[in-house]
Amino acid sequence: MKIQENVSLKGKTTMRIGGSAKYYAELSSKEDVERAVEFAQQKNVPLIPLGGGSNTIFANGEINALVVRITASDVRITNHESLTVEAGKNLPMLINELAKQGLDLSPLTGILGTVGGAVFGNAGQGPNGIWIDSYIESVEVFTDSEWKVYNNDECDFSYRESVFKNLQKAPPIIWSVTLAIPKRDPTEIEAEIKRLLQQRIETQPHVKTAGSCFKAAGGTPAWQLIDNAGLRETAHGGVHISEKHANFLINDGEGTFDDAVQVVKTIEDGIPEGLEVEMRFIKEDGTLQF
Ligand SMILES: Cc1cc2nc3c(=O)[nH]c(=O)nc-3n(C[C@H](O)[C@H](O)[C@H](O)COP(=O)(O)OP(=O)(O)OC[C@H]3O[C@@H](n4cnc5c(N)ncnc54)[C@H](O)[C@@H]3O)c2cc1C
Repeated sequence: MKIQENVSLKGKTTMRIGGSAKYYAELSSKEDVERAVEFAQQKNVPLIPLGGGSNTIFANGEINALVVRITASDVRITNHESLTVEAGKNLPMLINELAKQGLDLSPLTGILGTVGGAVFGNAGQGPNGIWIDSYIESVEVFTDSEWKVYNNDECDFSYRESVFKNLQKAPPIIWSVTLAIPKRDPTEIEAEIKRLLQQRIETQPHVKTAGSCFKAAGGTPAWQLIDNAGLRETAHGGVHISEKHANFLINDGEGTFDDAVQVVKTIEDGIPEGLEVEMRFIKEDGTLQF
């Protein structure tokens, strides 16, 4: 593992906003994970795991942290329906590869990023749909300087939530996940993936965006609350709300972190019942803006 200094983060998130990481490393083995944690402790900086950056936005200055990416992405079939996937695996690729083998993860179609990011935020469909937790048997994590395996119950999953989001004292690095996936005819799975992707193309943006920005509140989709409050036109500097879907921010190319923060604040102020921010807004000191 090589620890690099002053590495640009802009191209490492789908929003294409962000300054540089004071320290950056790609982790391909469990030893790398242990060494990275040790390094961050020695330098007294936070360690920030980054997956595909599709739910993350970094401040424009220098992030005083060690930003790490898990590059390990092996998929190991453990028995006929159960498999262990390393956290760096790209989720859309996994869904497509499994479809060919007759294993159906199609309900997660259209979710960008890595398996690690999906487990962290229990990615999936809306509040009443299917989330990744319904396939998870266990998750292997490095936390508090030791390796631990959490079974599904211990992960404390709920809508866009997991125990990993709340282990603030010892932020976990998710290394791998064991999934149990139902079988289905490959042709049917592939048709379903195609249908869901088409639906996404029609209803969601897919350039210079990260999402979702807000969590659904009390079962009402965030986009609907934003629409109802007449906030769909919200814009600040180079960041505006997507015309296609009000829960996505778009960077027109010149957008900054502060622009995105202002858009979020305007929306929060305009919706008195409150909206929880789902996207990870990471400030220069490595802490979260919201
Ligand atoms: C067009 C579009 C559509 C989307 N549709 C959906 C959707 O339908 N459903 C949905 O749930 N999400 C959706 N998202 C959001 C996003 O794709 C998911 O949140 C995804 O799971 C994030 O994965 P990532 O690897 O990009 O995470 P990142 O943005 O890189 O990271 C997100 C968080 O996870 C943490 N993390 C990442 N990897 C690890 C790891 N190995 N160990 C510990 N922590 C880690 C990071 O520290 C960060 O806090 C969409 C995004 C876009 C842009």
